[in-house]
Amino acid sequence: MDHASTPLEAVEAGIARAAKIAGRNAEDITLIAISKTHDAGTIVPLIEQGQRVFGENRVQEAQGKWPALKERFPDIELHLVGQLQSNKAEDAVELFDCIHSVDRPSLVTALGKAMDKAGRKLPCFIQVNIGEEDQKGGCAIADLPALLEQASEAGLPVVGLMCVPPAEIEPAPFFAFLAKLAADNGLDQLSMGMSGDYETAIMLGATHVRVGSALFGARS
Ligand SMILES: *Cc1c(COP(=O)(O)O)cnc(C)c1O
Repeated sequence: MDHASTPLEAVEAGIARAAKIAGRNAEDITLIAISKTHDAGTIVPLIEQGQRVFGENRVQEAQGKWPALKERFPDIELHLVGQLQSNKAEDAVELFDCIHSVDRPSLVTALGKAMDKAGRKLPCFIQVNIGEEDQKGGCAIADLPALLEQASEAGLPVVGLMCVPPAEIEPAPFFAFLAKLAADNGLDQLSMGMSGDYETAIMLGATHVRVGSALFGARS
């Protein structure tokens, strides 16, 4: 059906297709290329094809490759999508341009301080544990209003909600639920959808899709 010749073109075509079905503008959806585990040699070709927004899940791994890449390509935007320890908040604020994994009071406090100290306010998403899974990051659904209140007091620019739904279950109901939580709390951005389900997420309102393996191949 589509004539994409690169993985990036194929994903962009998927985004356009889903946006069209949903009656949305594809330009309103940000593709975040999740480059965790991949080195500069794999990332640079994607930058050269025009991709500018990237995501990593570990601060330390990102520190090892992105400062040099950002120097070479100054218009790169780097998003943190993985769990963040409070003692890495300053490092994260220095390197990243957006944080998707704000999920608890201690981290809100640490990020608020780090942003004040750096004089750099990064847009943030609150990660919600939308499937109420014990082992997963994200704030409990019931704790969301209090965390949003605290984030506002700490001066964090919260722009939306993020989730990673349970594996092996149809994700659509979780995406729809996250969209409702965002709307109920007056937030208009939604970070949801990965390689296997980004089109579904877009149909349900995703503004940011986080796609790794569909762009870079399977991680070893
Ligand atoms: C790895 C990762 C992704 C991308 O996953 P793929 O299935 O490879 O697209 C998205 N979001 C988060 C939080 C991740 O850790």
